[in-house]
Amino acid sequence: MPELTSIDPATGDAVGRVAAAEPGDIGPIVARARAAQPGWAALTHRERADRLRAAIPDLRAAAEEIGTLVSREMGKPLAEGKGEAGYAADGLAEELDEIVAALEPQVLEDRRTRTTLHHDPFGVCAAITPWNFPVLMPQQSVVPALVAGNAVVLKPSEETPLCAQRWAECLQAHLPPDVLQVVHGAGDVGRALVRADVDLIVFTGSRATGIRIMQDAAEGLKRVILELGGKDPLVVLDDADLDAAAAFAVRNSFRNAGQVCVSTERIYVHRDVAAPFVDRVLERTKALVQGPGSAPGVGIGPMVNARQKAKVLRQVEDARRAGAKVLAGGTDLPGNFVPPTVLVDVDHSMEIMREETFGPVACIMQFGSDDEAVRLANDSPYGLGAAVFGRDAGRAEGVARRLTAGMVGVNQGCGGAQGTPWVGARQSGIGFHSGPAGHRQFAQVRANSRPR
Ligand code: ADP
Repeated sequence: MPELTSIDPATGDAVGRVAAAEPGDIGPIVARARAAQPGWAALTHRERADRLRAAIPDLRAAAEEIGTLVSREMGKPLAEGKGEAGYAADGLAEELDEIVAALEPQVLEDRRTRTTLHHDPFGVCAAITPWNFPVLMPQQSVVPALVAGNAVVLKPSEETPLCAQRWAECLQAHLPPDVLQVVHGAGDVGRALVRADVDLIVFTGSRATGIRIMQDAAEGLKRVILELGGKDPLVVLDDADLDAAAAFAVRNSFRNAGQVCVSTERIYVHRDVAAPFVDRVLERTKALVQGPGSAPGVGIGPMVNARQKAKVLRQVEDARRAGAKVLAGGTDLPGNFVPPTVLVDVDHSMEIMREETFGPVACIMQFGSDDEAVRLANDSPYGLGAAVFGRDAGRAEGVARRLTAGMVGVNQGCGGAQGTPWVGARQSGIGFHSGPAGHRQFAQVRANSRPR
């Protein structure tokens, strides 16, 4: 049996090992899921949700351990790792209620016909998840799939197998055998899972891998829910509260070392306020403390691995060579660390303004009018999140409505109220999850009709 070693990106030390699958193992694993699924589907949505609800005390009790693993396996500050594990446990009850309500049958009637829309399982769901939120992403993929009555095979990222395994064990203790299985391995194992006898593939990860998954899924016309990358713009209008805008820019460019799908990756600031805005961004950037996630007071950890670091530094170097000015960071630190980096004088000919960076880089470009800001912000194949800062709410909302992103925040990030879907437009996704509309995508709608 091959093994997967999880490495601490801050130190290079091994965090632990798990048994890994080989592509050839996946067929029998999916067959077990297939066999377990009808029994699971025979329960009601509420009964299935209650099984998962029973796992909440276990998840709470394990939150400290899981959060520590998150931090050690992928490098985010310990408080953020623990915060993620705690948030997942604390949010699960409300999430389950929302899913059950979303999957309730809906009745439609006209003069002649009464129709009931049922939300039935697809069958077997493959959940393939990334390393940047290695507990929340599995939870958001696996839980709605299970409540809908699907059996799930989860393949967590090969960078973060231990925390995902520990999280899944908390659920598995309350589920019938084989209803939730976890397989470990790299992309070849993920690919075998996509090509196996599964009905729905729920994937969060890069656009490039999303394209490959869609190609593999096309052969069997399998359902896909793909949450892909982004190149999120932040537009700072000339009437913006510059302190608030700079605080957001720094927080959202450098959180999780920029390894967030809704990180701010492009900043467009009105030229009349560019100088004071950049000053504020630099001041806040210089106050950031970088180091291993386990060290006290650290706000920014390492990149997840050397490959990710090399990609970020290459984009910065290419931009510098093409005329960008590096006002902070941009240097090569030991290990997997990339310092928080601020670039100005960037433009759209540079890869760093076009391709997802997924690193701690704030790229600031100036604009002269609202129309120009909208044109620049929309000049991307991506369309995940976006933000607009401006004091005149009507004007800022007007700009926000013209952005082609799936989630836009005005004077805040793109996260919405309870029930908001997590949705990407354009090439940032196909289908979506979260909120009632997202939960229903894990179920087959079936319309049963009879005369009135
Ligand atoms: P990254 O390269 O940053 O890890 P990916 O999008 O490649 O991001 O990976 C996200 C998840 O997709 C991981 O669990 C990874 O193992 C898996 N994966 C990678 N390639 C494939 C593939 N061809 N088919 C299915 N899953 C894959």
